[in-house]
Amino acid sequence: MARFFCPLPLHTGDVLTLPPSAARHVQVLRLQPGDGITLFNGQGGEFAATVTRMGRSDVEVQIGAHNATEREAACAVHLLAGITANERMDWLVEKATELGAASLTPLVAERSVLKLKGERAEKKLAHWQGVAVAAAEQCGRNRVTRIDEAKSLAAWLAQHPAGTGVRLVLSLSPGTQPLRTAVQGHTHVTLLSGPEGGLTPAEEALALAAGFVPVTLGPRVLRAETAPLAVLAALT
Ligand code: SAH
Repeated sequence: MARFFCPLPLHTGDVLTLPPSAARHVQVLRLQPGDGITLFNGQGGEFAATVTRMGRSDVEVQIGAHNATEREAACAVHLLAGITANERMDWLVEKATELGAASLTPLVAERSVLKLKGERAEKKLAHWQGVAVAAAEQCGRNRVTRIDEAKSLAAWLAQHPAGTGVRLVLSLSPGTQPLRTAVQGHTHVTLLSGPEGGLTPAEEALALAAGFVPVTLGPRVLRAETAPLAVLAALT
């Protein structure tokens, strides 16, 4: 059954016009009046719905029964991931959503090649949020990974002086713990990982001072997008 993110109040019995992105998708799939779809708005669960009218560009649906099911990971992981080169970041957002990441802050790391600012940053953020929506529609999640505004580690720390759960930094420096040891018993994890060029010693020091525990994923150097995904896969 085709699933669509529909960020509107949804109530069983209501008839509504789908937002443009969902409507376009329904048009592309050539659905017809009478066809069933699934809608979710990120507020919990999903709704059965039936297409009632196909306009030239608008689509009208009637909302059916609510199903309170969630397909979230047991551990809520917030990623603070160094911004990588273009397609790799899209890939990271898509896979992180599939693997159940609760949210992702693109980290403007000292060694990030892409330095986002102003209008370009806003466009990128909307693009990445769109990638997360498409991934949630595809994988069956009823919650969309929230993509926060890109920021530096110092700026992020200023906004999050203390947090829920455990803070981990993926590190290639000596003195790290294995992931399993560091995570044990925690259901909330904030995970900091570097861009292609890694975190600078200053960024690592800043993270350690803010209570991040350095963890290792083994003796191989993983690509910037592989490392956080490996953690998500281990925790979901
Ligand atoms: N050239 C860089 C490599 C960066 S890899 C350097 O030498 O520092 C990108 C990021 O992935 C790293 O900053 C780290 O956060 C994470 N990472 C990669 N492999 C890892 C491993 N085996 N253990 C822990 N973190 C790892």
